[in-house]
Amino acid sequence: MSRLDRLVGELKRFYGRLPVPPADPFTLFVWEVLSVHSTPRKRDAALGALKRARTLTPDSMWRVAPKKLQESVALAGPYLEQRIRALKGGVDVFRRVPDLPAVIRGPLPPALRTLKALPQMGEGGAYRMLLFAAGHPVLPVDARVSRVARRLGYGEGQTGFAKTARSIRAAVSAELAWTPVAFARAFVYLNHHGAVTCTETDPHCRVCPLLDECPEGKRRSM
Ligand code: SF4
Repeated sequence: MSRLDRLVGELKRFYGRLPVPPADPFTLFVWEVLSVHSTPRKRDAALGALKRARTLTPDSMWRVAPKKLQESVALAGPYLEQRIRALKGGVDVFRRVPDLPAVIRGPLPPALRTLKALPQMGEGGAYRMLLFAAGHPVLPVDARVSRVARRLGYGEGQTGFAKTARSIRAAVSAELAWTPVAFARAFVYLNHHGAVTCTETDPHCRVCPLLDECPEGKRRSM
């Protein structure tokens, strides 16, 4: 078992079972749009309302009455107009490229090119799609994962987030089993840890289960 497997296992014991992003590509796209500037509780309320309204397919969302869509999406919080615009843009892409789910399960370069057409995805969102909706063993690196991974000694800060993310992916990939399950588990727990304990300005190192193995935590606790 690698050091990273052990650290992720510690986080799993500490936090218990955590939810994973949706596995259906369109639902995951909607989840991404609802997640921005929202909280998990509000995002899940909005997603639940869309599910109950049976609008979680590109065709059904294209057909749904605007008022119904707005009422559901508004549950995610502010930025309603931007969310609706992004959802409509995504619906267009999914309807224009009906084999998108198959394309993203194929080789990575064409998959990433196709995902670039989706609004509001960014690199982190695109890699989440590759991992959770297409089964590729890749690590999505967002701000939280980047922070936690580098504090634990994986990857280096480079000029530009994309380069930093690449160095983290390389370092992490060397220590994980080459399976989507291992990468999904690492992402979910590193991301959650970055949200609630290993925060940007004031990480709670004294209660962190990884303190004994964390160079940054030891430095801060001296
Ligand atoms: S010890 Fe501190 S810096 Fe290290 S992972 Fe834990 S919270 Fe983050």
